[in-house]
Amino acid sequence: MLKHHFHIVTVILFFSSFIATAQQVKEPKDTPVEWSKPYPPFRIAGNLYYIGTDDLACYLIVTPKGNILINTGLAASLPLIKANLKTLGFKFNDIRILLTTQAHYDHMGAMSEIKKATGAKLMVNEKDAAVAADGGSSDYALGGHGPTFEPVKTDRLLHNGDVIKLGDMRLVMLHHPGHTKGSSSFLFDVKDGGRKYKVLIANMPTIVTDKKFSEVHTYPDIARDYAYTISAMKKLTFDIWLASHSSQFGLHSKNKPGSPYNPAAFIDKTGYDKAMNDLEDQLSKKD
Ligand SMILES: [Zn+2]
Repeated sequence: MLKHHFHIVTVILFFSSFIATAQQVKEPKDTPVEWSKPYPPFRIAGNLYYIGTDDLACYLIVTPKGNILINTGLAASLPLIKANLKTLGFKFNDIRILLTTQAHYDHMGAMSEIKKATGAKLMVNEKDAAVAADGGSSDYALGGHGPTFEPVKTDRLLHNGDVIKLGDMRLVMLHHPGHTKGSSSFLFDVKDGGRKYKVLIANMPTIVTDKKFSEVHTYPDIARDYAYTISAMKKLTFDIWLASHSSQFGLHSKNKPGSPYNPAAFIDKTGYDKAMNDLEDQLSKKD
């Protein structure tokens, strides 16, 4: 009888844990329409391509040893990403490395599914890995309501300055905390014939929380981290500037769907400097 009773408890526990992992992922409602709108994929420079949605930037770096995907958009962005890969003539199953600029649902939505389907290795900033593993539940600003994206395990923890290698590509991960504890930018060279471009995929340090920084008790270093990130980012040098959201670097003014290949359109240090100064200004006004 007792044994029988234990069995029932085990069964109940099994099913409740199954339901907890399988059913509780809830993206916040009413996301901007631009996040889900398709956008024609295009070649940015050399072996670097834009395959995201209208506003959620996803980047593909193509190498003879397989490809690197940076960011996935929402869970529902996956069919758009797949369609974009097909349009460009690349294979979904050639994705070998998965990266993210930040562990929020609008960049991590399809990460778990892509990892499972392709067997790619997920590399995440050590400070964002816990949030990735609990699907955003423990995020200091957006957390507290269960997972907002499918939890996903990190295969390699990245630290500031770590290099991600695939084929002849070398990407440097830059720790730019604040927006999330482990927000990351990526700096790398792409070659285009005789020309080389230094590319920065920047995680712009926008403010997420409505709380005063001094009241964010689960992230006591938040003000210091944002200040560090702004000062570190203002010192960066690069040719091409991209970001986590296309609106942040003005994609729509730089690329019209169907426009010819033009890496020079993304050379915009002036726009970057202005964006950094605006963010610095917003941070200076934050309590
Ligand atoms: Zn975010």
